[in-house]
This record gives sequence, C-alpha cells and structure tokens, in this order.
Amino acid sequence: MHRLLALALMLEATMSTLAAAPSLDRRIDDASKKVEASVIATRRDIHQNPELGNRELRTAKLVADKLNALGIETRTGVAHTGVVGILRGGKPGHVVALRADMDALPVVEQVDIPFASKVRTTYNGQDVGVMHACGHDAHVAILLGVAEVLAGVRDDIPGTVVFLFQPAEEGAPEGEEGGAELMVKEGALDNPKVDAVFGLHVTSRFPIGEIAYKPEGMMAAVDSLKIKVHGKQTHGAYPWLGVDPIVVASQIVLGLQTIPSRQLDSTVAPSIVTIGAIHGGVRNNIIPEEVEMIGTLRSLDAKMRDEIHARVKRTAESIAASGGATATVTIETGYPIVYNDPVLTQRIAPTLRRVAGLENTRVVNPVLGAEDFAFFQQKSPGVFFWLGTRPPNQTPEEAASNHSPLFYIDERGLELGVRALAHVAIDYLGGK
Ligand SMILES: [Zn+2]
Ligand SMILES: [Zn+2]
Repeated sequence: MHRLLALALMLEATMSTLAAAPSLDRRIDDASKKVEASVIATRRDIHQNPELGNRELRTAKLVADKLNALGIETRTGVAHTGVVGILRGGKPGHVVALRADMDALPVVEQVDIPFASKVRTTYNGQDVGVMHACGHDAHVAILLGVAEVLAGVRDDIPGTVVFLFQPAEEGAPEGEEGGAELMVKEGALDNPKVDAVFGLHVTSRFPIGEIAYKPEGMMAAVDSLKIKVHGKQTHGAYPWLGVDPIVVASQIVLGLQTIPSRQLDSTVAPSIVTIGAIHGGVRNNIIPEEVEMIGTLRSLDAKMRDEIHARVKRTAESIAASGGATATVTIETGYPIVYNDPVLTQRIAPTLRRVAGLENTRVVNPVLGAEDFAFFQQKSPGVFFWLGTRPPNQTPEEAASNHSPLFYIDERGLELGVRALAHVAIDYLGGK
C-alpha cells in the first residue's frame, strides 16, 4: 500500500511538472503574442524616424540598446551602421542567422497615418523626403520581437542565433560600399560561423496572415548595362559620309530583345533585357559621333546570367560592326540571385505551413526584382520568404506596392512574422 501511494504521489508530481512546463513551441507562440504590441510600437517609432542607407544611426542605436537590454551580445558598426547580435543558447548546436534590413528610401510619404514620416535629408546632393516605403521598419521591429522571444527561451535553445541588422539594402549612396555584401565581407557570418540564414520581406502582394516562398531562384540577379556606340559625325543630309550611331543603336535595342525571346530557353527561367535611357545627338541636322545607352539585365538562373552577359556583348558589338560602327559594352554586376537552397527550403516548409496554416502558405512564382539578401545566401545556404501585410479588405490591384509613397502595412500581419522567424530558427536548430 505504502509503495503504491508513493508511486501515485510521484506520478502526480511528474504530471504537474509536465503541466507547468509547456513545450518550447507553445512558449514561443505565447511570447510572440506578448511582444506584438511592442513590435508595433517599435515599428511606428522607426517609421516616423526613417534613415537612408549607411545613415541608419538612430535605428542602429535603438537596435543595439534593445539587444543589450535582452542580454544579447552585440557587434556594432558592421558595414558602417550594421548591428550583429549573438544569442548563445543553453545547449550546444548549430548556428542560424536571421536578417532584417534597416534602411528607408528617398520618398515623400503620402500615407495618412499619425506616425507618417516628415523627415527630409540630402541624398546624392539632392534634398529629398525619407520614408520606409519598402517596409524595412517592419523587418527591424519583427526581428527585435524575435530576439525578445528567443532570449526568453535561451536556456532551451540548442545552438546559437545570430541577428543580422543590415544597412543599405536599397543600395549605398554614390561612392560608398554597403549592404549585405559589405556585411559578409566584414565577417558578419563568421565567428560564430553561420550554418543557415533566413529572412523575410513584407509585401502588399499578399494579405495579412499569408506566407509565400519559392525554392531556388526567387528574386532576380540585377546587372547594369552601358553601351557606347561610336560612329562618325556628319551632316544630317549626307549620312553616307559618316556612320550613324543612332540607327545602329536602334538596331542594337531591337537585337537585344531577341536574347530573352529567341536565344535563351525561356522554360528554364524568365529573363529581361531593358534599355532605360538613350542619349545621343544635339540637333536635328547633325548625325552625332556617339550614342550612349543604359539598361538593366535581370535573370533567375546563374548559368543564364553568364549567357546573357556574353550574348549582350556579342549582339551589340556585331550589330555595330555590321554598320561600320563600334560598340563598347560595360556590364556591372549587381545583386546576385536570391536563391533559396532547395533542401533547406524543403526542411523549413513544414514550419511555415504550421505557423501560417496550410491554406495560408503558398509556393509562388519568382519576381524579377532584386534583394541583397542574396549575398548572405552566397556565403551560407538560406531561405527568403514573403510575409503578407496587405489589409484583407484590399485587392492586390488596389494596394500600393513597395517603394510607392502610399505603401501601407497592416500591422496585424507582423506577429506572424515574429512567430515564423522564431520557429524557423528553432526548428532548424532542432529544438523540438
Ligand atoms: Zn525596396
Ligand atoms: Zn526591401
């Protein structure tokens, strides 16, 4: 009898311990709900005080102060204004990095909200308005929320979580380096060496509550193109006495369009060649000496990207030669492809489906816009995904896109971002 009673008491004690210790997943969910109000308040604070790339001094200080208050080790001044936070869990394991970009855009805000930005600054010598028109304010607030959630369960984290607060995603000011590329160069993914990196981007393409992603190429590589067509200047009435670079440039513009449409396998991935500006000539009756064109090249497949570069060069030079002109092609490589490692994507997809719900998780088409998160993915495998922030009563057509002065975030969508990143990090580390 005695022994039975003791056993019963022991069992009861064990049961109550179990009841008192909810699972790590449950604790993350509860904590995410609890930080929601402060995530929104932080987002509004940053929204009202936006800073352009490489100038995110106030934002970086806010980030570092918050991380320090949570007892997270920080490195500041990474790639100018970047902050790296390192949260070492109570158990050994891998290292996972989560990224948020911090910079705003030279846009005059037109959204009617009490915390709208009135900030103005100088950008490349011009007086401009400043606005978080790409939602990076939300990214910073979400990641600080994640830091708070994970700091609260640190003893149970099997590994290390690195928080990457990155400057200048939209590009550094003229003559400066910056962004993810510089962060990687300055060792943001070393010490501790990061095994996998995750990030999200808010978007009005999807309503609140939805997450979307795509394995492999999700956003395009972007390269800038310059072509100088050199002819021979002459009178507009006697073209045979010279070489007309305007006619040659026109042929080149059309020739370039046959690269995506006629020369590359469009079933592999879409690609784009766009000429955005043509400059040449000063008056109606002079055939000029030279025409300069600039444009952008977009691709979603690394091999195709190289092919496009070679074909653009060949097309421009050969067409110029056929008209007796010369073409000088300069291609400056920009952001690489946002390439979601297929194995890693498969591994975290169940987490995304669990946190957002199966019906709210979509695999979507790629876009030909670019993101410098790609530089982190070149250094360690990573996955980038979309977080819907469109108000549910708006259609995608009604919603202003990122970079618009009317870009609006429904803040009810932010909590899902906190939960998604926190669970992705923990599930990746295997803390279930
Ligand atoms: Zn942007
Ligand atoms: Zn952005």
